[in-house]
Amino acid sequence: MNNFKTMNQEEFFKKITAHAKEYGFIFPSSDIYDGLAAVYDYGQNGVELKKNIREYWWKAMVQMHENIVGLDAAIFMHPTVWKASGHVDAFNDPMIDNKDSKKRYRADVLVEDYMAKIEEKINKEVEKAKKRFGDAFNEEQFVTTNARVLEWKKEIETISHRLYGAMEKNDLADIKKLIEDLGIVCPISGTRNWTDVRQFNLMFATQIGSLAEGANTVYLRPETAQGIFVNYLNVQKTGRMKIPFGIAQTGKAFRNEIVARQFIFRMREFEQMEMQFFVRPGTEIEWFKKWKEERLKWHLSLGIPAENYRFHDHEKLAHYANAATDIEFNFPFGFKELEGVHSRTDYDLSRHAEFSGKKLQYFDPETNESYTPYVIETSIGLDRMFLAMFSYAYTEEKLEDGSERVVMKLPPILAPYKVAILPLVKKDGLPEKAREIMDNLQYDFMCQYEEKDSIGKRYRRQDAIGTPLCVTVDNQTLEDNTVTVRDRDTMEQIRVNVDELHEIIRKKISPKR
Ligand code: ATP
Repeated sequence: MNNFKTMNQEEFFKKITAHAKEYGFIFPSSDIYDGLAAVYDYGQNGVELKKNIREYWWKAMVQMHENIVGLDAAIFMHPTVWKASGHVDAFNDPMIDNKDSKKRYRADVLVEDYMAKIEEKINKEVEKAKKRFGDAFNEEQFVTTNARVLEWKKEIETISHRLYGAMEKNDLADIKKLIEDLGIVCPISGTRNWTDVRQFNLMFATQIGSLAEGANTVYLRPETAQGIFVNYLNVQKTGRMKIPFGIAQTGKAFRNEIVARQFIFRMREFEQMEMQFFVRPGTEIEWFKKWKEERLKWHLSLGIPAENYRFHDHEKLAHYANAATDIEFNFPFGFKELEGVHSRTDYDLSRHAEFSGKKLQYFDPETNESYTPYVIETSIGLDRMFLAMFSYAYTEEKLEDGSERVVMKLPPILAPYKVAILPLVKKDGLPEKAREIMDNLQYDFMCQYEEKDSIGKRYRRQDAIGTPLCVTVDNQTLEDNTVTVRDRDTMEQIRVNVDELHEIIRKKISPKR
């Protein structure tokens, strides 16, 4: 099992960052210039893993749904889009600086971290009780009756009520007061010497056209969703789409994040995979529930145990939403948002209709009426999904012979390479035979050929990048056309005929349905 679970966030990021770099998954952007904060490049293995996640999502959303089609909208959009969407006025995070360390924080995150610590205390208390009571332990009863746990829960509730209330009212002074009342100190300087809380818009702005022509401010899109909304009518009409239908898109988004110390969990340039599903008003809650379940199923189909996922239903809803949930993943630094599923009402289409003066409606032949469709959105960060898979997969193992290995237990369908073809030695015609096998498999699967170093070393290198199967070609192969196939996770080897390889690999990488 993944052995990160006891690490703190800093230790974890150090380890994972080092492995990601050493094995060509992720490099800091502009590495030779010492990097750029919260911006990363994907290396030769990372680009494959990332592409595989994207493709797995696209297949599930577009290929497997007749009523969902794709889109690839531009990153630049008309500036009014962001006025209509509310991003110009309200896409802000409250920030606060510590005057001693000069570090900047998201004020709400400081308070949320404080609440997470109380949550941790509750979890520890539950674990302790579990040990004490053994089989007779009833967790549900314990957390609803234990005086200490109840007190901590009440504390979280009070803080959360105050924080989200202040955020809603944009009462920045009260957020600061809350930080002071809770005695929150800067993790670097350890002091409570805070500035006032200020709002900070997360959009990157730039100019389009030369100044002489009359420059215009444009934004790098902070989400891909708006590209879908402004194309709603284009796609609906040209695709002759009937409600309910969806439009899916993957692509870059940009946010000038204040807290940028979390590797690829929070980046300034990242990729989203979003789907907007247009439904008849009044049916949205039913669809919201359906998409919530569908999306969880997608995650589980990768074979990672269900206990690593949980829903976090929003109590406080954004003004445009009438239901929202996060799918949270058990990252080594705790459960955190991986994906959002939101019921966004008709807010976006109505706003764009208002600002553009175009009618963005649907004539429903079944009910004979026109209406503005309601929207269910599913939105997942591709890089965050990468981190979820990467951190889950990273495993340090002690082997029976006392040696150690690092193995990336990636879901096989996502692994950069599906199979490595390894001639046992670099002579006796083995490389030629290995190449021949590779030629036959390469068309269907990402294969890697390696002949350098001992076979043991080569297995370790493949383990470290998560290759599910290694095929070893030896002298017997030349005699009877059989090879050994080694399994990444169990390290077991079986001898099979070369003709069976195709089917073995196919089975290995097929997802659970
Ligand atoms: P958070 O609360 O973590 O800032 P959010 O609620 O603002 O996220 P959304 O606007 O709902 O996020 O974006 C949808 C998804 O995009 C998120 O679930 C997350 O996976 C991803 N995402 C958002 N911001 C970032 C970022 N800065 N870096 C990487 N992924 C991100």
